[in-house]
Amino acid sequence: MHEFSLASEIVDMVEQAAKNAGKGKVTCIELEIGELAGVEESALLIALESLTLHSMSKGAQIITKNTKGKAICSNCNFEYELQDLFTLCPKCSGFRKQIISGKEFNILSIEAE
Ligand SMILES: [Zn+2]
Repeated sequence: MHEFSLASEIVDMVEQAAKNAGKGKVTCIELEIGELAGVEESALLIALESLTLHSMSKGAQIITKNTKGKAICSNCNFEYELQDLFTLCPKCSGFRKQIISGKEFNILSIEAE
């Protein structure tokens, strides 16, 4: 499962950062997930919960910030919002586009104590 390996990477990174800072417990993880990142948030949260169960991130609050998908049509330069990569330009029905936001997948912040 794609989300499970992502969650595993997140936990590794977060706990490494917390350890490097001399902390013993992760209390909050803030994630940025773009609408076009191809990540299913509910599956990711379930994976995170199970992965952190016996770790220093147990019970940490997970905050997610969703970035809207936005693209510029390569045909008519119209800027529009989209929920998936298959959305056509609402103005000219063009398929080719340049994605300008929504593919983000980042750890924004970590709180630890
Ligand atoms: Zn267009």
